[in-house]
Amino acid sequence: MSGINLGIIGGGQLGSMLSEAAKKLNIKTIIYCDDIDAPAKNFCEQFIYGDYQDKNKIREFVNKVDLVTYEFENIPFETLNEINKIKTVIPKPSVNKLIQHRLTEKDFINKLNIRTTKYASVERKTDIDALEDFLPGILKTTTLGYDGKGQYRIKSKQDLNSLNIDFSKGYILEKLVKLKKEISVIVTRFGNNSYEIYEPIENTHEDQILKYSKIPAEINKRLFDESKEWSIRIAEELKYIGTLCVEFFIDRNENLYVNEIAPRVHNSGHLTINAYNISQFENHIRAVCSLEKIPLKKISNAKMINLIGNQIIPYRKNLKIDHNQFFFDYQKKEVKTKRKMGHITTLI
Ligand code: ADP
Ligand code: MG
Repeated sequence: MSGINLGIIGGGQLGSMLSEAAKKLNIKTIIYCDDIDAPAKNFCEQFIYGDYQDKNKIREFVNKVDLVTYEFENIPFETLNEINKIKTVIPKPSVNKLIQHRLTEKDFINKLNIRTTKYASVERKTDIDALEDFLPGILKTTTLGYDGKGQYRIKSKQDLNSLNIDFSKGYILEKLVKLKKEISVIVTRFGNNSYEIYEPIENTHEDQILKYSKIPAEINKRLFDESKEWSIRIAEELKYIGTLCVEFFIDRNENLYVNEIAPRVHNSGHLTINAYNISQFENHIRAVCSLEKIPLKKISNAKMINLIGNQIIPYRKNLKIDHNQFFFDYQKKEVKTKRKMGHITTLI
Protein backbone atom coordinates (compact mmCIF):
# COMPACT_ATOMS: atom_id res chain seq x y z
CA MET A 1 0.00 0.00 0.00
CA SER A 2 1.59 3.28 1.11
CA GLY A 3 5.22 2.05 1.17
CA ILE A 4 6.42 5.21 2.91
CA ASN A 5 9.62 5.19 4.97
CA LEU A 6 8.98 7.67 7.75
CA GLY A 7 11.90 9.03 9.77
CA ILE A 8 11.18 9.84 13.41
CA ILE A 9 13.63 11.77 15.56
CA GLY A 10 13.46 10.64 19.18
CA GLY A 11 13.01 7.13 20.50
CA GLY A 12 11.03 7.39 23.73
CA GLN A 13 7.55 6.01 24.40
CA LEU A 14 6.01 8.55 22.03
CA GLY A 15 8.26 7.30 19.24
CA SER A 16 7.26 3.73 20.08
CA MET A 17 3.56 4.50 19.90
CA LEU A 18 4.03 6.43 16.63
CA SER A 19 5.83 3.39 15.20
CA GLU A 20 3.02 1.07 16.26
CA ALA A 21 0.44 3.33 14.63
CA ALA A 22 2.53 3.58 11.45
CA LYS A 23 2.86 -0.20 11.21
CA LYS A 24 -0.94 -0.50 11.06
CA LEU A 25 -0.91 1.87 8.09
CA ASN A 26 1.82 -0.06 6.32
CA ILE A 27 4.38 2.68 6.91
CA LYS A 28 7.90 1.77 7.96
CA THR A 29 9.51 3.85 10.66
CA ILE A 30 13.21 4.58 10.96
CA ILE A 31 14.03 6.07 14.33
CA TYR A 32 17.00 8.29 15.11
CA CYS A 33 17.88 8.69 18.77
CA ASP A 34 20.82 9.68 20.94
CA ASP A 35 20.04 6.97 23.49
CA ILE A 36 21.36 3.57 22.54
CA ASP A 37 18.77 1.90 24.77
CA ALA A 38 15.84 3.95 23.43
CA PRO A 39 12.61 2.01 24.04
CA ALA A 40 11.33 2.68 20.50
CA LYS A 41 14.08 0.38 19.25
CA ASN A 42 11.70 -2.47 20.04
CA PHE A 43 8.86 -1.07 17.94
CA CYS A 44 10.39 0.52 14.83
CA GLU A 45 11.58 -1.04 11.59
CA GLN A 46 15.09 0.38 11.83
CA PHE A 47 16.96 2.19 14.56
CA ILE A 48 19.89 4.56 14.16
CA TYR A 49 21.84 5.66 17.20
CA GLY A 50 23.63 8.99 17.06
CA ASP A 51 24.01 12.43 18.52
CA TYR A 52 21.55 15.07 17.29
CA GLN A 53 24.49 17.10 15.97
CA ASP A 54 26.36 14.23 14.29
CA LYS A 55 26.21 15.25 10.63
CA ASN A 56 27.38 11.91 9.24
CA LYS A 57 24.93 9.83 11.24
CA ILE A 58 22.12 12.24 10.42
CA ARG A 59 22.98 11.90 6.71
CA GLU A 60 22.78 8.12 6.98
CA PHE A 61 19.33 8.52 8.53
CA VAL A 62 18.13 11.06 5.95
CA ASN A 63 19.19 8.78 3.09
CA LYS A 64 16.91 6.04 4.36
CA VAL A 65 13.70 8.04 4.71
CA ASP A 66 11.10 9.79 2.55
CA LEU A 67 10.19 12.41 5.14
CA VAL A 68 10.93 13.22 8.77
CA THR A 69 8.87 13.97 11.85
CA TYR A 70 9.76 14.06 15.54
CA GLU A 71 8.47 12.95 18.92
CA PHE A 72 9.95 15.68 21.13
CA GLU A 73 10.64 19.37 20.70
CA ASN A 74 14.14 19.72 22.09
CA ILE A 75 15.99 18.91 18.90
CA PRO A 76 18.56 21.51 17.76
CA PHE A 77 16.85 23.78 15.24
CA GLU A 78 19.92 23.66 12.98
CA THR A 79 19.60 19.88 12.72
CA LEU A 80 15.94 20.06 11.66
CA ASN A 81 16.68 22.92 9.29
CA GLU A 82 19.54 21.06 7.59
CA ILE A 83 17.45 17.90 7.22
CA ASN A 84 14.59 19.96 5.78
CA LYS A 85 16.83 21.06 2.88
CA ILE A 86 16.99 17.43 1.74
CA LYS A 87 13.83 15.73 3.01
CA THR A 88 10.68 17.45 4.23
CA VAL A 89 10.43 17.83 7.99
CA ILE A 90 6.85 17.95 9.32
CA PRO A 91 5.90 19.85 11.48
CA LYS A 92 8.14 22.44 9.87
CA PRO A 93 11.31 23.37 11.78
CA SER A 94 10.27 27.01 12.28
CA VAL A 95 7.35 25.81 14.43
CA ASN A 96 9.73 23.85 16.57
CA LYS A 97 12.08 26.81 16.95
CA LEU A 98 9.24 29.04 18.12
CA ILE A 99 7.88 26.55 20.63
CA GLN A 100 11.10 25.15 22.08
CA HIS A 101 11.83 28.53 23.68
CA ARG A 102 9.38 29.40 26.45
CA LEU A 103 9.64 33.17 25.82
CA THR A 104 9.01 33.15 22.06
CA GLU A 105 6.27 30.57 22.65
CA LYS A 106 4.44 32.78 25.16
CA ASP A 107 4.95 35.94 23.08
CA PHE A 108 3.37 34.14 20.13
CA ILE A 109 0.35 33.03 22.16
CA ASN A 110 -0.21 36.51 23.58
CA LYS A 111 -0.07 38.03 20.10
CA LEU A 112 -3.10 35.89 19.28
CA ASN A 113 -4.87 37.52 22.21
CA ILE A 114 -4.88 34.24 24.06
CA ARG A 115 -4.20 34.38 27.80
CA THR A 116 -1.05 32.89 29.32
CA THR A 117 0.38 33.19 32.81
CA LYS A 118 2.10 36.48 33.59
CA TYR A 119 5.77 36.07 32.67
CA ALA A 120 9.09 37.86 32.40
CA SER A 121 12.55 37.07 31.13
CA VAL A 122 15.27 36.51 33.75
CA GLU A 123 18.88 36.55 32.64
CA ARG A 124 20.55 37.45 35.92
CA LYS A 125 19.76 36.75 39.54
CA THR A 126 19.30 40.50 40.13
CA ASP A 127 16.57 40.72 37.45
CA ILE A 128 14.25 39.17 40.01
CA ASP A 129 14.56 42.29 42.24
CA ALA A 130 12.26 44.17 39.87
CA LEU A 131 9.80 41.30 39.56
CA GLU A 132 8.04 41.28 42.95
CA ASP A 133 4.68 41.21 41.11
CA PHE A 134 5.57 37.83 39.64
CA LEU A 135 5.97 36.14 43.05
CA PRO A 136 5.12 33.59 44.18
CA GLY A 137 6.26 32.18 40.89
CA ILE A 138 8.03 29.42 39.06
CA LEU A 139 11.41 30.02 37.50
CA LYS A 140 11.83 27.80 34.44
CA THR A 141 14.72 27.37 32.05
CA THR A 142 13.69 28.90 28.72
CA THR A 143 14.77 25.77 26.84
CA LEU A 144 15.16 22.02 27.32
CA GLY A 145 12.72 21.56 30.23
CA TYR A 146 10.29 18.65 30.52
CA ASP A 147 8.42 16.87 33.31
CA GLY A 148 9.18 19.83 35.57
CA LYS A 149 12.93 19.58 35.02
CA GLY A 150 14.76 22.90 35.29
CA GLN A 151 11.99 24.46 37.38
CA TYR A 152 12.21 26.21 40.76
CA ARG A 153 9.31 27.37 42.88
CA ILE A 154 10.08 30.80 44.32
CA LYS A 155 7.97 32.35 47.09
CA SER A 156 10.20 35.30 47.86
CA LYS A 157 13.50 36.80 46.75
CA GLN A 158 15.19 35.17 49.74
CA ASP A 159 14.51 31.75 48.25
CA LEU A 160 17.08 32.53 45.57
CA ASN A 161 19.86 32.32 48.13
CA SER A 162 19.01 28.81 49.26
CA LEU A 163 18.47 27.47 45.75
CA ASN A 164 21.59 26.80 43.76
CA ILE A 165 20.43 28.13 40.40
CA ASP A 166 22.77 28.13 37.41
CA PHE A 167 22.32 31.60 35.89
CA SER A 168 24.48 30.82 32.89
CA LYS A 169 21.18 29.59 31.44
CA GLY A 170 18.26 31.83 30.45
CA TYR A 171 15.04 31.69 32.52
CA ILE A 172 11.45 32.76 32.47
CA LEU A 173 9.69 33.72 35.70
CA GLU A 174 6.02 32.83 35.66
CA LYS A 175 3.55 33.96 38.24
CA LEU A 176 2.00 31.00 40.01
CA VAL A 177 -1.60 30.38 38.96
CA LYS A 178 -3.94 29.26 41.74
CA LEU A 179 -4.89 26.12 39.92
CA LYS A 180 -8.33 24.61 40.01
CA LYS A 181 -7.67 22.20 37.19
CA GLU A 182 -5.42 21.43 34.28
CA ILE A 183 -6.69 20.29 30.90
CA SER A 184 -5.19 19.64 27.51
CA VAL A 185 -6.57 19.67 24.00
CA ILE A 186 -5.11 17.57 21.22
CA VAL A 187 -5.70 18.55 17.62
CA THR A 188 -4.42 17.03 14.40
CA ARG A 189 -4.29 19.51 11.55
CA PHE A 190 -4.21 18.21 8.00
CA GLY A 191 -4.26 21.54 6.09
CA ASN A 192 -6.14 24.84 5.91
CA ASN A 193 -9.14 24.58 8.25
CA SER A 194 -8.91 20.83 8.01
CA TYR A 195 -8.41 19.11 11.31
CA GLU A 196 -9.63 16.50 13.77
CA ILE A 197 -9.89 17.51 17.42
CA TYR A 198 -10.20 15.40 20.58
CA GLU A 199 -12.33 16.57 23.47
CA PRO A 200 -10.54 18.32 26.36
CA ILE A 201 -8.70 15.93 28.69
CA GLU A 202 -8.45 16.58 32.42
CA ASN A 203 -4.94 16.12 33.83
CA THR A 204 -3.54 15.74 37.33
CA HIS A 205 0.16 16.24 38.01
CA GLU A 206 2.24 14.99 40.92
CA ASP A 207 5.66 16.60 41.42
CA GLN A 208 5.11 18.44 38.11
CA ILE A 209 4.84 15.09 36.30
CA LEU A 210 1.59 14.01 34.66
CA LYS A 211 -0.02 11.28 36.76
CA TYR A 212 -3.68 10.96 35.67
CA SER A 213 -5.66 11.92 32.57
CA LYS A 214 -9.36 11.42 31.95
CA ILE A 215 -12.23 12.16 29.59
CA PRO A 216 -14.64 13.75 29.98
CA ALA A 217 -12.93 16.65 31.75
CA GLU A 218 -15.16 18.04 34.49
CA ILE A 219 -15.42 21.56 33.14
CA ASN A 220 -18.23 23.87 32.08
CA LYS A 221 -19.36 24.36 28.49
CA ARG A 222 -17.58 27.72 28.11
CA LEU A 223 -14.20 26.21 29.06
CA PHE A 224 -14.88 23.18 26.88
CA ASP A 225 -15.57 25.38 23.84
CA GLU A 226 -12.95 28.03 24.56
CA SER A 227 -10.10 25.53 25.01
CA LYS A 228 -10.97 23.86 21.70
CA GLU A 229 -11.34 27.18 19.90
CA TRP A 230 -7.96 28.45 21.18
CA SER A 231 -6.24 25.20 20.20
CA ILE A 232 -7.60 25.36 16.65
CA ARG A 233 -6.57 29.02 16.41
CA ILE A 234 -3.02 28.14 17.51
CA ALA A 235 -2.75 25.26 15.03
CA GLU A 236 -4.10 27.41 12.17
CA GLU A 237 -1.80 30.32 12.97
CA LEU A 238 1.24 28.01 12.99
CA LYS A 239 0.03 26.41 9.73
CA TYR A 240 0.79 23.25 11.61
CA ILE A 241 0.64 19.79 10.06
CA GLY A 242 0.33 16.83 12.42
CA THR A 243 -0.75 16.33 16.02
CA LEU A 244 -0.29 19.13 18.50
CA CYS A 245 -1.26 19.46 22.15
CA VAL A 246 -2.15 22.61 24.05
CA GLU A 247 -1.81 22.43 27.86
CA PHE A 248 -4.13 24.72 29.82
CA PHE A 249 -4.53 25.97 33.36
CA ILE A 250 -7.93 26.81 34.86
CA ASP A 251 -7.73 29.05 37.91
CA ARG A 252 -10.10 29.24 40.87
CA ASN A 253 -12.13 31.95 39.07
CA GLU A 254 -12.58 29.65 36.08
CA ASN A 255 -10.20 31.68 33.88
CA LEU A 256 -8.50 29.74 31.15
CA TYR A 257 -4.76 30.15 30.41
CA VAL A 258 -2.54 28.40 27.90
CA ASN A 259 0.34 26.86 29.83
CA GLU A 260 2.35 25.57 26.91
CA ILE A 261 2.14 24.05 23.45
CA ALA A 262 3.64 20.66 22.63
CA PRO A 263 4.39 20.43 18.89
CA ARG A 264 3.92 16.68 18.98
CA VAL A 265 1.82 13.85 20.33
CA HIS A 266 1.33 14.12 24.09
CA ASN A 267 1.23 11.94 27.19
CA SER A 268 -2.31 13.08 28.05
CA GLY A 269 -3.45 11.63 24.71
CA HIS A 270 -2.40 8.06 25.44
CA LEU A 271 -6.01 7.30 26.26
CA THR A 272 -6.96 8.11 22.64
CA ILE A 273 -5.47 4.72 21.67
CA ASN A 274 -8.35 2.91 23.36
CA ALA A 275 -11.03 5.59 23.64
CA TYR A 276 -11.26 6.74 20.00
CA ASN A 277 -11.53 5.12 16.57
CA ILE A 278 -8.26 6.88 15.60
CA SER A 279 -5.53 7.64 18.15
CA GLN A 280 -3.48 10.84 18.31
CA PHE A 281 -0.55 8.76 17.01
CA GLU A 282 -2.38 7.40 13.97
CA ASN A 283 -3.72 10.86 13.20
CA HIS A 284 -0.22 12.30 13.35
CA ILE A 285 1.02 9.70 10.89
CA ARG A 286 -2.01 10.27 8.64
CA ALA A 287 -1.45 14.05 8.60
CA VAL A 288 2.32 14.07 8.02
CA CYS A 289 2.10 11.32 5.37
CA SER A 290 -0.86 13.01 3.59
CA LEU A 291 -3.16 10.04 4.14
CA GLU A 292 -6.92 10.18 4.40
CA LYS A 293 -8.47 12.14 7.25
CA ILE A 294 -11.11 10.02 8.96
CA PRO A 295 -13.78 11.64 11.18
CA LEU A 296 -13.05 11.05 14.86
CA LYS A 297 -15.47 9.03 16.93
CA LYS A 298 -15.24 8.58 20.67
CA ILE A 299 -15.74 4.95 21.62
CA SER A 300 -15.71 5.35 25.39
CA ASN A 301 -14.91 7.60 28.29
CA ALA A 302 -11.56 6.73 29.77
CA LYS A 303 -8.96 7.39 32.41
CA MET A 304 -5.22 6.86 32.22
CA ILE A 305 -2.68 6.45 34.96
CA ASN A 306 1.04 6.83 34.36
CA LEU A 307 3.23 4.20 35.97
CA ILE A 308 6.23 6.10 37.25
CA GLY A 309 9.45 4.51 38.48
CA ASN A 310 8.95 1.23 40.30
CA GLN A 311 5.13 1.41 40.04
CA ILE A 312 5.59 -0.65 36.88
CA ILE A 313 7.08 -3.64 38.70
CA PRO A 314 3.91 -5.37 39.98
CA TYR A 315 2.33 -5.06 36.52
CA ARG A 316 5.38 -6.58 34.89
CA LYS A 317 4.94 -9.51 37.28
CA ASN A 318 1.51 -10.17 35.76
CA LEU A 319 -0.59 -8.24 38.22
CA LYS A 320 -4.18 -8.87 37.10
CA ILE A 321 -5.96 -6.14 35.22
CA ASP A 322 -9.65 -5.96 34.33
CA HIS A 323 -11.11 -6.66 30.88
CA ASN A 324 -11.70 -2.91 30.34
CA GLN A 325 -8.08 -2.06 31.13
CA PHE A 326 -5.07 -1.80 28.84
CA PHE A 327 -1.53 -2.02 30.15
CA PHE A 328 1.38 -0.51 28.23
CA ASP A 329 4.98 -1.25 29.15
CA TYR A 330 7.44 1.11 27.44
CA GLN A 331 10.13 -1.56 27.87
CA LYS A 332 12.65 0.88 29.25
CA LYS A 333 15.77 -0.92 30.34
CA GLU A 334 16.28 0.83 33.62
CA VAL A 335 13.65 1.63 36.23
CA LYS A 336 14.40 5.12 37.56
CA THR A 337 12.50 7.34 39.97
CA LYS A 338 10.40 9.98 38.19
CA ARG A 339 10.77 8.10 34.92
CA LYS A 340 7.60 7.28 32.99
CA MET A 341 7.76 3.50 32.62
CA GLY A 342 4.30 2.62 31.33
CA HIS A 343 0.62 3.42 31.67
CA ILE A 344 -2.78 1.85 32.16
CA THR A 345 -5.88 3.06 30.38
CA THR A 346 -9.28 2.10 31.76
CA LEU A 347 -12.40 2.50 29.67
CA ILE A 348 -15.24 3.78 31.87
P1 ADP B 1 7.06 20.96 31.48
O1 ADP B 1 7.65 21.54 30.22
O2 ADP B 1 8.05 20.35 32.37
O3 ADP B 1 5.83 20.14 31.20
P2 ADP B 1 5.22 22.97 32.54
O4 ADP B 1 5.44 24.42 32.34
O5 ADP B 1 4.09 22.36 31.79
O6 ADP B 1 6.61 22.26 32.26
O7 ADP B 1 5.05 22.69 34.10
C1 ADP B 1 4.76 21.42 34.63
C2 ADP B 1 3.63 21.50 35.65
O8 ADP B 1 4.00 22.40 36.74
C3 ADP B 1 2.34 22.10 35.10
O9 ADP B 1 1.57 21.14 34.41
C4 ADP B 1 1.70 22.60 36.41
O10 ADP B 1 1.14 21.52 37.15
C5 ADP B 1 2.87 23.16 37.18
N1 ADP B 1 3.06 24.59 36.81
C6 ADP B 1 3.91 25.07 35.90
N2 ADP B 1 3.83 26.42 35.78
C7 ADP B 1 2.87 26.82 36.64
C8 ADP B 1 2.31 28.10 36.99
N3 ADP B 1 2.74 29.23 36.43
N4 ADP B 1 1.34 28.12 37.93
C9 ADP B 1 0.91 26.98 38.53
N5 ADP B 1 1.40 25.74 38.23
C10 ADP B 1 2.38 25.65 37.32
MG1 MG C 1 3.96 20.76 30.49
